[in-house]
Amino acid sequence: MNPLTAVVIGAGAGGLTAAAHLARRGMHVTVVEKNEVAGGRCARVVREGHTFDVGPTLYVMPKVFDHEFRALGESVNERLALQRVDPTYHLVFDDGQRLELTSDRDRMRTQLEAMEPGSFAGFERYYRQGGRHYDLAMEHIVGRNFRTLAEFINPASLRVFLQVGALTRHYAGMRSFFRTPHLKAAFTFQDMYMGLSPFEAPATFSMMQYTELAHGVWFPQGGMYTVVQALQAIAVHSGVQLQFGTPVERILTREGRATGVALADGRELPADIVVANADLPYVYRELLPQDGTARRLERRQYSCSTISFLWATDRPYPQLPAHLLFLSDDYRANFDELQRDRTIASNPSVYFHAPTRLDGALAPRGHDTLVGIVPVGHIDEAHPQNWDDLKARARDGLLQRLARVGVTDLDAHLKFEMCFTPPDWKDRFNLVRGATHGLSHRLMQMGYFRPHNRHARYRNLYFAGASTHPGTGLPTARISGRLVAERIAEDTGRGA
Ligand SMILES: Cc1cc2nc3c(=O)[nH]c(=O)nc-3n(C[C@H](O)[C@H](O)[C@H](O)COP(=O)(O)OP(=O)(O)OC[C@H]3O[C@@H](n4cnc5c(N)ncnc54)[C@H](O)[C@@H]3O)c2cc1C
Repeated sequence: MNPLTAVVIGAGAGGLTAAAHLARRGMHVTVVEKNEVAGGRCARVVREGHTFDVGPTLYVMPKVFDHEFRALGESVNERLALQRVDPTYHLVFDDGQRLELTSDRDRMRTQLEAMEPGSFAGFERYYRQGGRHYDLAMEHIVGRNFRTLAEFINPASLRVFLQVGALTRHYAGMRSFFRTPHLKAAFTFQDMYMGLSPFEAPATFSMMQYTELAHGVWFPQGGMYTVVQALQAIAVHSGVQLQFGTPVERILTREGRATGVALADGRELPADIVVANADLPYVYRELLPQDGTARRLERRQYSCSTISFLWATDRPYPQLPAHLLFLSDDYRANFDELQRDRTIASNPSVYFHAPTRLDGALAPRGHDTLVGIVPVGHIDEAHPQNWDDLKARARDGLLQRLARVGVTDLDAHLKFEMCFTPPDWKDRFNLVRGATHGLSHRLMQMGYFRPHNRHARYRNLYFAGASTHPGTGLPTARISGRLVAERIAEDTGRGA
C-alpha cells in the first residue's frame, strides 16, 4: 500500500501535534503555515534582548502535557525544563486586600480565614469538588471523540453531566463554599480562559482551579514558546515537512472529497487527507465552498478577546510577581460589558506577567520584560469599536493598576512597547472576530455540540485546534491534535 499524503493547514499546537501523530502512523505529512514561524497564538517576540510570550503565559494542566508527550513516544522532561510557579497568582482586590493562591495549605488557611472566617473549610470542599470534576470530565468528556449524539448523551453520560455540575452555573454554585465576593471571584476568574463568564459557565470548570492548585501552574525555562519549539522538533523528527510563509487560499474539493489545497502563491498541493488547524469558523468561511455552515457558525457564541501590551523597560520591577491579577469589585459588570457591549469594562480586571521572575534570561540584566493584558469584547460590527480609543483606555487602566503596587515610572523607563488588539489577532492568525479563544465553551458548544473534527460532507477533511473538540488552551489543542489523528487512523484503517 502506498503511504497516504496529508496536508495540515496551520502550525499551531493542534496542527503540529496532529502532523506528528500522522507522520508516526506512516503518512507523508506537509504542514503549510501562513506565518514565518510555527506556534500560532502561542507566539513569541524577541527584541533587544527581551523575550515575550505573546499568547499563553501559563503552563496549566501538566498531566495533559505529560500524557500528550507520552502519546508521541516522548518525555516532557527531556523536552522542557519546567519549574513550578507557587504561588500561582497574586491577586489584588479594589479595596487593597491581597490573596496569594498557593498549594501551601497552611498559608492558604491563614489567608482565607483572615478574609472570611470559616472559609478554609469551604475551600477544602471546593477543592475536592474540583478534583471530582477534573477526573470525571477528563475521562468522559475532554479526552475522547464524539461521533454521534448518542455517544454524547445517554443515561450514563447524563449521570456524569450531573456529577460534574454541567447544569449549575459556576458563580451561582459558589455560594455553597464562600460568602465574600472576593473569594467567589478568586476561584472562578479562570473561566475567562474558556472565553466564558463564570455567571454562565458550568460549574464543571472548577476543575481548572483544582488542577492549578493540585497539579500546579508551571513555566518552561526559555518561556512558553519552548513548547512550540519542542512540538516542531518532534514533528520534524517524525518526518513532517514544514512550509512557512505559505498561506492556503482554498481547500480543493471534488465529488464530495477534499483533494488538497490551493496556495496563495498559485501552487496546488494534492492530498489524501486535509487537516485544518486554522480557526475552524475561518476555514468554513474563507477556505471552503459555501454551504450555509459558515453562516450558522456566525451565530455561535465567540470568546472575548484581549488588548495585550508588551513592555521592555530599562529597569527591573521586582514588586511585580510572575502572575499578578487585579480583580475588580465590579466582577459581574466586567463580564456583562465584554459580552453585551463588546468593549472594555469600566473598571476592568487586568493581568500582568513578569517572566523574568521565573527566568532571568528573558531580559537583559537589570532590565525587565512585562506583559499587561486587558480583556475586551471581540470584533463586532454591530457595536461601535474604536480600537485606538480602546487601546488608550486599556493602557490607562493598566498603568493605574501598576501605580497601586508602586510602579509609577513605567513610561520613563520604557525602551519599547508593542500592542496586540483584536484586529491584530484576526490579521495575524485568521481568528474570526479576533476572538482569542475561538468559540466559547458554553454547554451547547461543548462535546458533540462543538463543531466536529471531521467535515460532514468531505469525509477526508478534518479539524484540529481550539474551536473544535475539546477546545481552547495549549493542552487541549494538543488533545485535539491527537484525537483527530486517531479518528483519521480509524477512518482510513491505517495505523489505528
Ligand atoms: C492572549 C492569549 C493568552 C492565552 N493564554 C493561554 C495560557 O496562559 N495557557 C494556555 O494553555 N492557553 C492560552 N491561550 C490559548 C492558546 O494559545 C490557544 O488555545 C492555542 O494556542 C490554540 O492552538 P491552535 O492549534 O488551536 O491554533 P492556532 O494557534 O490559532 O494555530 C493555527 C495556525 O493556523 C495558521 N493559519 C491560519 N490561517 C491559515 C491559512 N489560510 N494558511 C496557512 N496557515 C494558516 C495560523 O497562522 C496559526 O499559526 C492564550 C491565547 C491568547 C491569544
